[in-house]
Amino acid sequence: MKKRHKSEKRATQSERQGHGEQASEGAGKLYVVATPIGNLGDISARALAVLAEVDLVAAEDTRTTGHLLAHHGIGAKLVALHEHNESIRAAELVARMRSGKTIALVSDAGTPGISDPGALLVARAMEAGITVCPIPGANAAIAALSAAGMFAPHFLFYGFLPAKPAARRMALAALRELPYALVLYEAPHRVTECVADLAATLEGVREIVIARELTKLFEAIHRCRLDEAGAWLAADPNRQRGEFVLIVSGAPEQEQRGLPAEAERVLRLLLAQLPLKQSAALAAAITGARKNELYERALALRDAAGEK
Ligand code: SAM
Repeated sequence: MKKRHKSEKRATQSERQGHGEQASEGAGKLYVVATPIGNLGDISARALAVLAEVDLVAAEDTRTTGHLLAHHGIGAKLVALHEHNESIRAAELVARMRSGKTIALVSDAGTPGISDPGALLVARAMEAGITVCPIPGANAAIAALSAAGMFAPHFLFYGFLPAKPAARRMALAALRELPYALVLYEAPHRVTECVADLAATLEGVREIVIARELTKLFEAIHRCRLDEAGAWLAADPNRQRGEFVLIVSGAPEQEQRGLPAEAERVLRLLLAQLPLKQSAALAAAITGARKNELYERALALRDAAGEK
């Protein structure tokens, strides 16, 4: 067997310790530990070992994490760190790590810091020269992407859109031209209106993947055209229950774009009553879609109607 050079051996040991060269003498360490997004089995052997070994577990909700730890027979000491106390708690926890304690940061589900608290504690720990070590695992966005069957070499993780309709539409308008699949998180009580806004703002020809309750009993992944998604959701109230990841394909090529579904609907209604030019202008004013695109579409609709 080939003999390993001394410096090579040293590097391996430092890698095993996890960025050993960064740590200051006697300092503790912060582990950022991913936990399951539903199925309790989705946690790595390394995550369980770390949770069992650390001096303290900082959890978004100590009860939720308490259940997870009990399920795996781990009796760790827990402290709460959530969006309302993260700033004060971060300072306390950094002080503890400075005195040599090891801490594991976990959120309620999935990877901390991803649409979850944690980034502030990580930033404070880094500023204090404390080694931060990720323990990767479950994440709803990546799980959904992996099973979406979407040919998306690039994607943009957005997380939660604004809750208020006007702000949501504005955020979507800013994303409209991007050629990347959009990955969104959404709560069940907003999924219908969110999908309606997606269809109204983006092109109906885009593909959407609605990934619900991943890794859980009622896991479901549905793929369809964006302008068909609202009707699909409405057809069964069960389809609106649970936790959601929505993935929408990126902006289509110019020639495949078509109008947003809402603009198409408004244009058709107006065309039934008004002259073509006026319909296009009014539809543009109502929906915010481009007037010349509406005009082109109105011409095409008129031609198609004439052919019948
Ligand atoms: N940190 C988590 C992660 O790594 O995925 C995300 C936390 S964020 C507060 C919670 C949101 O993630 C939910 O509202 C939902 O949009 C999505 N989510 C979490 N678990 C999910 C699951 N099992 N199936 C589908 N979406 C899920």
